[in-house]
Amino acid sequence: MSVLVFVEADNGAIKKSSFEAVTCGAKLGDVTAVAMGDINAGELEALGKYGAKKVLHAADSRLNDGVIAATALLVAEAAKKEGAQTVLMARSSLVDAVAARVAVKLNVPVASNVVELPDTSAGFKVKRGVFTGKAFAEVSIPGDSRVITLAKNAVAPEEVGGTAAVEAFEVNFSDADFGVKRTSVHKQEGDILLPEADLVVSAGRGLKGPENWGMIEELAKTLGAATACSKPVSDMDWRPHHEHVGQTGIKVSPNLYIAVGISGAIQHLAGVSSSRVIVAINKDPEAPFFKAADYGVVGDAFDVVPKLIEALKASN
Ligand SMILES: Cc1cc2nc3c(=O)[nH]c(=O)nc-3n(C[C@H](O)[C@H](O)[C@H](O)COP(=O)(O)OP(=O)(O)OC[C@H]3O[C@@H](n4cnc5c(N)ncnc54)[C@H](O)[C@@H]3O)c2cc1C
Repeated sequence: MSVLVFVEADNGAIKKSSFEAVTCGAKLGDVTAVAMGDINAGELEALGKYGAKKVLHAADSRLNDGVIAATALLVAEAAKKEGAQTVLMARSSLVDAVAARVAVKLNVPVASNVVELPDTSAGFKVKRGVFTGKAFAEVSIPGDSRVITLAKNAVAPEEVGGTAAVEAFEVNFSDADFGVKRTSVHKQEGDILLPEADLVVSAGRGLKGPENWGMIEELAKTLGAATACSKPVSDMDWRPHHEHVGQTGIKVSPNLYIAVGISGAIQHLAGVSSSRVIVAINKDPEAPFFKAADYGVVGDAFDVVPKLIEALKASN
């Protein structure tokens, strides 16, 4: 099967979720990756290690801004050029907007938020996360071609040790394809960005007040993690709004999510349930978070967290 994988970069470095998508594609067939904008040459070549045979690189710097119309055209043109039967994209805010447009341009079905490797033993079947991760739908996709968006952590990135030939790729864009222009970008300095974080330490109303966040920040610093919080915590201005995770906040998919003094309401879990490993620390043994967690510590955060920091520092 011919597979086209759209890969995204951040500051010249390819995102981990894109390596996951290439790994997934390589398990389905022959992968060509398509990348855009300013990306380090070594990063493009690294796609070969994850199973890409070829990389099409559109080095047009206007594509750095992730403009939806232009990205959709780029991916559709690459899919046509390669005769791709499956177009795979790791979910992101850009990909969520682009996938359906690519499917329309190619006149093929689209399945979003696929949570595991598709089953190609008879036809093409996928398992999709629905209702903000509370349920799954198994879907058979008819026809020979399709567009798939992959949930983060659906497939672990795996180095298979190949090499990829990088080719320049040009698309005849019109001005209309760049109709939306990004005028400025404001990034928080010094923080690990939550949606991309591999490790997240999060805390809730159980922390009693903003003055107690020092130990959460210290735990996060010791682990090299991003910090997050529940909604009431940001509503009360204990923490900034960009740290609020859940149904109405940021969705995170780290390898490790540590929840301290958070009850585990469904609206919170909706934003964290695709984490690979969840650890809950709560003094109430009946806290709903323990049902969603892989590991739980029943205890007072003010006892447990300092001991955890001490143990981590001792083991470093
Ligand atoms: C439409 C809608 C959307 C929402 N969206 C979101 C969302 O995106 N994200 C979100 O987080 N919430 C969201 N909520 C709110 C959600 O329903 C919960 O109210 C919220 O998640 C609870 O936050 P919390 O767990 O920090 O606080 P609480 O519910 O007050 O829980 C505090 C927890 O801390 C524990 N605790 C207390 N003291 C200690 C201690 N010393 N040590 C250890 N544990 C302790 C308690 O046992 C308890 O489990 C939404 C609600 C609605 C209606």
